[in-house]
Amino acid sequence: MGASGKPKLAVWKFASCDGCQLTLLDCEDELLDVADAVEIAYFPEATRAVVRGPYDISLVEGSITTPHDAERIHKVRRASKVLITIGACATAGGIQALRNFKNIHDFVSVVYAHPQYIETLGKSLPVADYVFVDFELRGCPINKVQLLEVLGAYLCGRRPNIPRYSVCQECKERGTVCVMVARGSPCLGPVTQAGCGAICPAYARGCYGCFGPKEQANPAALGQWWRDELAVRRRDVVRAFRTYNAYAEDFRREGERHEHADH
Ligand code: SF4
Ligand code: SF4
Repeated sequence: MGASGKPKLAVWKFASCDGCQLTLLDCEDELLDVADAVEIAYFPEATRAVVRGPYDISLVEGSITTPHDAERIHKVRRASKVLITIGACATAGGIQALRNFKNIHDFVSVVYAHPQYIETLGKSLPVADYVFVDFELRGCPINKVQLLEVLGAYLCGRRPNIPRYSVCQECKERGTVCVMVARGSPCLGPVTQAGCGAICPAYARGCYGCFGPKEQANPAALGQWWRDELAVRRRDVVRAFRTYNAYAEDFRREGERHEHADH
């Protein structure tokens, strides 16, 4: 608890675009209630004052990409009673995990004029690969209603109620006609966790998986169905699985399976 008698909240950034942290500021109508319930003790994106730890709840955005990150995340863990990772970068390595499929030195040598000054790790990895994480909130970016649910749940001492079913169920809930069935458009909805409200199919395009794999996803069946029924080329299946959640186990395996297939 802080001096105010409220639980102390900290928001940390690692390799990321800041979009998930900004989701907290996006809670316009609810922000005053959040500030009433917690002391925003560490949030450099939004406040100038820093209250020292330990913190009751830490929200961590971003993946671990440098030796400094790898050291700092342990300090964050030690300073936090509850550590919640937010967004595709922190939960799956993010779009920057595309480098995990190549040799990092090849990128560094062509991107930077003086690669000798660059200290980086070979892979961009989720926070849970380094420290214990109490809860992972998916999305690129996360959904603000889900963020408020997770914060509220931890403040009340219960598990967050975040659905693990697929985007397909959200299509059904909003009455969207399936784009794969009706239009033959490839869609990752059957293997992607709900949370966005099935936005993309509502605009007649397939889901490209920004909430990451759903619980017990079957990407192998979906990938094969795309190949057999929608005549999607192997390299396009690989590309579909390699976006924001490319290094999430289920998506990574399916991308690799098609990348290394003979035909
Ligand atoms: S459009 Fe995509 S997400 Fe919606 S029901 Fe069809 S396959 Fe599922
Ligand atoms: S890509 Fe999929 S998960 Fe992301 S907003 Fe579109 S429908 Fe939702």
